[in-house]
Amino acid sequence: MTKYDAIVIGTGQAGPSMATKLAGSGMKTAIIESGKFGGTCVNDGCIPTKTMVASARAAHIARNAAEYGVVIDGSVSVDMKLVKARKDEISGKSNKGVEQWLKGTDNLTVFEGKGRFESHNTVRVGDELLQADKIFINVGGRAFIPPFPGLDNIDYLTNENIMDIDFLPEHLIIIGGSYIGLEFAQMFRRFGSKVTVVEMASNIIQREDEDVSNTVLQVLEKEGVKFRLNSECISPEKQPEKEGNEIIVKLHCSDESKEVRGSHLLLAVGRSPNTKDLGLEKAGIEVDERGFIKVDDQLQTNVPGVWALGDCNGQGAFTHTSYNDYEIVAANLLDDDNRRLSDRIVTYGLFVDPPLGRVGMTENQARESGRNVLIGKRPMTRVGRAVEQGQTEGFMKVLVDADSKEILGAAIIGLNGDEVVHSITDIMYAKAPYTVIQRAVHIHPTVSELIPTMLGELKPL
Ligand SMILES: Cc1cc2nc3c(=O)[nH]c(=O)nc-3n(C[C@H](O)[C@H](O)[C@H](O)COP(=O)(O)OP(=O)(O)OC[C@H]3O[C@@H](n4cnc5c(N)ncnc54)[C@H](O)[C@@H]3O)c2cc1C
Repeated sequence: MTKYDAIVIGTGQAGPSMATKLAGSGMKTAIIESGKFGGTCVNDGCIPTKTMVASARAAHIARNAAEYGVVIDGSVSVDMKLVKARKDEISGKSNKGVEQWLKGTDNLTVFEGKGRFESHNTVRVGDELLQADKIFINVGGRAFIPPFPGLDNIDYLTNENIMDIDFLPEHLIIIGGSYIGLEFAQMFRRFGSKVTVVEMASNIIQREDEDVSNTVLQVLEKEGVKFRLNSECISPEKQPEKEGNEIIVKLHCSDESKEVRGSHLLLAVGRSPNTKDLGLEKAGIEVDERGFIKVDDQLQTNVPGVWALGDCNGQGAFTHTSYNDYEIVAANLLDDDNRRLSDRIVTYGLFVDPPLGRVGMTENQARESGRNVLIGKRPMTRVGRAVEQGQTEGFMKVLVDADSKEILGAAIIGLNGDEVVHSITDIMYAKAPYTVIQRAVHIHPTVSELIPTMLGELKPL
């Protein structure tokens, strides 16, 4: 049994910063990693997918170069081996960077293996027992594998093993029309695959307002992605007589004609926390019905001295929320700064092209809030920069509390929407009235310059 001041389990987006901060404050700290340093974002999530989105966009621009007066002699093709090599290099650098950072930090011992609680203050990794009064869980999540009948007989893809692909799937069937599935859908379509997205609901990205999800649907359909919405009773099977791995996904319980045939299947139907095999019951740490660790407003679990950060606590499913969890815990514990989870405003992107940037309430949520709400909306066809760039799909919309004048939320689906939304996010954090941005002078010609204009044209919701 080795005694530490603090133990961190997992090296996702919160763990490394937490561990190095603790070590830097003089605490003897241990950090444990059972997989790849840097976790999901670095190895199978944000970084590799965004490098692949960039390759897919380059192919798309090249194919449509003529629209800009650019002549490409010959056809445009994508070399998936080179796409993968670029992705591996960028992602690999981050992975190595995290490993070297942790291994080079004084006062910090790195263990490679699976950490499991033996008691509320003891963690086993391999043959070693580590003990500490402060334990930080940052074990993240993994792709949820749904109990579809027939799945056991199929070699399916998830966001992890799709990273190993260095060939072009002839026809990729994606089950799940939400954030992760849609990014892969557009990406592989742009690489040159046929792509069909199978979704059980009547629309994609259900959490969004209908105008947002319809816009994304139209953008992807225009590029040739096929959608099979309202699919019930999804059951994948392998066509027995085909050696070529032809996959059939049946979409309806009763109607046999409703099926999709493809060469590869990607499951993108959500994420599960990595909390099953962590010995939480030995430590007495409570989880909810989906396995997420229950935490309070400062990310403490029900067991004193144990915190849960990142995707495993169910309070966010993003890199920026995991990192913010670290900031909250570190501020309270080490910097005498009373930061709270409830201070956080929901914000995220959907990295299709053009991207979606979201912050705060949706229009539906604003309606349900019972407030007196004003709305401003402007199509990208009326944004000069979007016209000049030749990318006029989408719109920006903002929701304002008519009484307090505070901005309640915004959605920007269109050119640079993932960046532009931050001018609204910052004013929301400042709790300043919308008139502050309305009177601000923004650079011309940008997408952001139309935010003040939109705020000058608010109407009752
Ligand atoms: C395809 C995809 C694309 C994404 N794109 C974005 C994006 O663009 N923007 C964004 O903000 N978010 C994105 N995300 C989400 C983002 O990756 C996660 O929210 C983020 O990685 C935060 O995770 P985390 O810190 O909770 O832990 P993770 O990054 O999941 O890391 C947890 C680590 O803990 C380790 N671990 C697990 N159990 C144990 C154990 N018992 N002992 C020791 N180690 C253990 C794991 O091996 C892993 O390394 C994406 C996710 C996916 C899947």
